[in-house]
Amino acid sequence: MTRLALCGGIYSNPYALRAFVADARRRGAERLICLGDLGAYGAEPEAVWPLLEEHGVECIAGNYEVAIGSRQADCLCGYTDDTDNVFGQIAYDYTFAHTSEAFASWMTTLSTERRLAVGGVDLHLVHGSPLALNDFWWESLDDDAHRLRADASGADVVCCTHSGLPWTRTITRSDGGETLAVNVGVLGRPANDGGRHVWYALLDLDDGSASVELVPLDYDWRAQAASIRAAGLPEAFAEVIETGWWTSCLEILPPTERSRGRFQLYRSVLAQLSGEEPAPSERPVVPLFGSALFPDRLWIYTNFDCNLACGYCSVASSPRAVPRRLGLDRFTALVDEAVDAGVGEIYVTGGEPFLEPDLVEMLLYASERLPVVCLTNGMLYRGRRRQELGRLAGRPGLTLQTSLDGTEAAHDAQRGRGSWARALAGVDVARSLGLPVRVGMTETSANAGQGDALRDLLARHDVAPDQVAVRPLVARGHSTDGMPVDQAGTVPELTVAADGWFWHPAGADRATSPDLLVGGPELSLVEARRRVVERFLTLRQRDGSLPTIYRCAV
Ligand code: SF4
Repeated sequence: MTRLALCGGIYSNPYALRAFVADARRRGAERLICLGDLGAYGAEPEAVWPLLEEHGVECIAGNYEVAIGSRQADCLCGYTDDTDNVFGQIAYDYTFAHTSEAFASWMTTLSTERRLAVGGVDLHLVHGSPLALNDFWWESLDDDAHRLRADASGADVVCCTHSGLPWTRTITRSDGGETLAVNVGVLGRPANDGGRHVWYALLDLDDGSASVELVPLDYDWRAQAASIRAAGLPEAFAEVIETGWWTSCLEILPPTERSRGRFQLYRSVLAQLSGEEPAPSERPVVPLFGSALFPDRLWIYTNFDCNLACGYCSVASSPRAVPRRLGLDRFTALVDEAVDAGVGEIYVTGGEPFLEPDLVEMLLYASERLPVVCLTNGMLYRGRRRQELGRLAGRPGLTLQTSLDGTEAAHDAQRGRGSWARALAGVDVARSLGLPVRVGMTETSANAGQGDALRDLLARHDVAPDQVAVRPLVARGHSTDGMPVDQAGTVPELTVAADGWFWHPAGADRATSPDLLVGGPELSLVEARRRVVERFLTLRQRDGSLPTIYRCAV
């Protein structure tokens, strides 16, 4: 059996290279191989060369070695985004200026790929992929794209590094043979996973078969970060080393890979998409979650049955709807997850939430931990429910949002005779308990233009005008009229119900809005959010159009 240790993307990080040599030797690697990109991001490109020579690390050239060896003006990285290119150019210019003529000349002696026969295995070493030196061979590429690259090689094993994230995959080629593809990761910076360690691969070759292990590698990251800062390179380069999250050169990441990281957008892109300038910060990137494009809000549907049967209900609720109750245990677990995941506020809705027997318990639990708004038609504050409601009196952090659709006539036409008067009485009950009240009005052709009159009326019931929101009718659930809500055109607001996770609260009914389902109830909040981020990035990339901001919240 022959054991090879393969690394790549050293990125001027001699501290990680030293650790790689020691770790690989300790694990019995007979040959140490580097797949290129010796420079970038780090401050000590020249320190890498003697280590490679001293420890007999065999090298092929990456795009950096080709560019520096031939004295080109940029790194040939293959970035397509302007901001990625700005950071890439800073890294390249620094490396170029701090690489000796002798080292650059040595780079020109390296080939850009190698074929080896080891242990009866045909091994192909490349930098990007068998297609191109700077091809980004991502794990998330589709089967055809993987097969295209495996076909271009035809080897039993292909190893690459350029895209910087480690993965392995067995690919069936068009000729029926199999290729084990290995992205060995990079030594120069962490893998955008929140860990400070970097990655390399151990490849065992024996009697025509190959097995691979991706190895996380601890090293002196403090020394690397200090070296970057001392050289005056961008703070973003040091921060990646210290946090494990990419804060530069990330627009090149496909949606799947980018959604796994902490940051998804450059500030400049967010400003362009949302029109909102994020708070000033040194960091050039922001998370999508918590931005103007993706509020840090969680909507929770407690149930889907309702005492009313409004003709425009976007989740098709009614007295006959299957309740699909979430239950107190699931509700409290979701609140705990929300707190851990950094959610900023919770909106509780239904159906009519006050049909849920444990609603008050739920609101007490949630409002102890996060600001909570509960949406209700305000009609059920009687008898036992009225007594229960008293437990919420003066509850800090809790707001009741009641639906009132303009004048009594317009409201009752949708919601039934007497419903307007009972809802208004519900507003008074909530105010008497010292709870802040908001009002949401759904605007239809029957009540268009009644918003100001409603605000005037509600001001006399101690509801401030800015706490009254007029929202357009939505073409979901029972309603075929109204504004379309879909993933391509609507900003996501993460929503959970008994049936699973949804893109938006205006379409959280699995039966009438299956297209807005993000995943089943078994998903964690973090994974559901990651999927929404991934879809959002995919949709933005597809045609570059801007999402429409439609919010149910006031
Ligand atoms: S719109 Fe609100 S009040 Fe009307 S049926 Fe739907 S959940 Fe019930």
